[in-house]
Amino acid sequence: MRSYTLLAPAKINLYLEILGDRPDGYHELIMILQSIELADQIEVRANGTEKIRLFCPHPDVPLDESNLAYRAAKLMTENFPKVYANLGGMDITLDKRIPIAAGLAGGSTDAAAVLVGLDLLWQLGLTQPELQTLAAQLGSDVPFCIAGGTAIATGRGEKLDPIKDLDNLWIVLAKYRNIAVSTPWAYQTYRQQFKTNYLQENSDIQSRTSEIHSGPLVSAIVHKNPQKIGQLLYNDLEKVVLPEYESVAKLRNILAEAGGLGTMMSGSGPTVFTLCQSEAEAKQIRHQAESEIGDPTLDFWVTQLTNKGIQVVL
Ligand code: ATP
Repeated sequence: MRSYTLLAPAKINLYLEILGDRPDGYHELIMILQSIELADQIEVRANGTEKIRLFCPHPDVPLDESNLAYRAAKLMTENFPKVYANLGGMDITLDKRIPIAAGLAGGSTDAAAVLVGLDLLWQLGLTQPELQTLAAQLGSDVPFCIAGGTAIATGRGEKLDPIKDLDNLWIVLAKYRNIAVSTPWAYQTYRQQFKTNYLQENSDIQSRTSEIHSGPLVSAIVHKNPQKIGQLLYNDLEKVVLPEYESVAKLRNILAEAGGLGTMMSGSGPTVFTLCQSEAEAKQIRHQAESEIGDPTLDFWVTQLTNKGIQVVL
């Protein structure tokens, strides 16, 4: 049976601003998303049955329809019923390396990999925009995960505007193994606390979006100015997650004091990252924070920014 193995990189948010509410119940966002080399590995294999079967040894990963990778496969069978009827179902095997419920879009990137994998397995020849349209039906972060790199994301996060890639910087990621933050909880709590500041008019949302597009962080990325990028990292969700999770707030402070270009929580957290000039600097910051905090349930990763989205492993 034919199979494809894919690498599915995680993402961090260099910027996340919540602008307002949308009629569909989601938030109107402006984000700058960045792929990183920390990646799950996913195999998609024709199984000669009618079934979509999911395999993952990680105890916290659901193996039913609630798994985004499963939902991606289901979506493909619904959109290409004739191909599915001819070629049958598939076995999807997830090798999870991205921490779960960490604000790193782990589930979203797995779903993106399944879309790309089935496009190849079924020889559909879908274009990048076609894949991204399917991806948007699965979740706000999934379209970005297909192409990866560095992009401004607006709307729910699904409208993408790629910017010059940043692939020469390093990061230290840190996450407490036993803390998981629910993304819906973070956004709902933000709404409860900050709704009065939301922009109401579409024109105001448009002008704030334009301000960010032509603002200092995008300019620093385009001109590859790491110091400026580090100073301008921003995430609105820190306002609700850090007060709720004292240990994450403390971790953020310790990482920020340990050096690097800038420190920020990614997405809805609880992963915190420090942007660094080099691998050596990232390792030194990791070592310092690790020995200062001394908690065996605190996991660290040193990894690089990447300009790649889903990749086929040859
Ligand atoms: P985001 O940054 O997009 O908000 P996240 O990185 O915070 O996502 P995920 O790792 O995608 O969060 O997991 C969130 C929840 O989704 C988990 O608690 C898990 O139950 C469920 N889930 C569904 N599919 C997957 C998957 N393929 N891998 C991991 N978790 C998944």
